[in-house]
Amino acid sequence: MTTVSKAWLGLGGNIGDVPTAMANALQRLDGDAEITVTAVSPIYKTPPWGVEDQPWFHNCCAEVETSLTPEQLLEACQEAEREGKRERIVRWGPRTIDVDILLFDGVEQNEQRLTLPHPRMLERAFVIIPLADIAPNLHLKDKPCQIWASEMESSDLELTSSNKHWWKEA
Ligand code: ADP
Ligand code: MG
Repeated sequence: MTTVSKAWLGLGGNIGDVPTAMANALQRLDGDAEITVTAVSPIYKTPPWGVEDQPWFHNCCAEVETSLTPEQLLEACQEAEREGKRERIVRWGPRTIDVDILLFDGVEQNEQRLTLPHPRMLERAFVIIPLADIAPNLHLKDKPCQIWASEMESSDLELTSSNKHWWKEA
């Protein structure tokens, strides 16, 4: 008997055509026999933080159902990242995306290879705001995601499109 778990992913990047790279990564994950992408948030744009002299970031979140373990899902995410990078070399300009696991059902673990929940997610509007679009009632620490989102400074975030199927069409 296989156990199916729900997990939430955070995707983002700021080099090249990030929306297309994120769509490719999501299509690739969904194409894995052991992963189904069940919801994807809209894409949000955010100005760069830290080093300011760089392009805007694009971010989104996705919900998946998987029979993989958390470590196996991380491998699939890293494979999808690498695929994006490979395409970048062959075809258009630079392109880099990051695919992180935000939560994996009730799993809590503190390992360098995989820390769950993702240790910095609650500080990041570009994670919490899109996550609240697809999982408003998801419990994070002591309150639902949508409450975290409503309490967050998010004036920097710019919604690019609310088409739910953007990732299938790109
Ligand atoms: P970052 O995501 O911090 O920008 P990387 O994508 O290069 O940078 O990830 C660095 C390392 O973080 C990876 O090698 C991975 O093993 C580890 N890691 C720990 N927890 C997580 C998580 N929840 N999701 C994704 N990677 C994680
Ligand atoms: Mg990462």
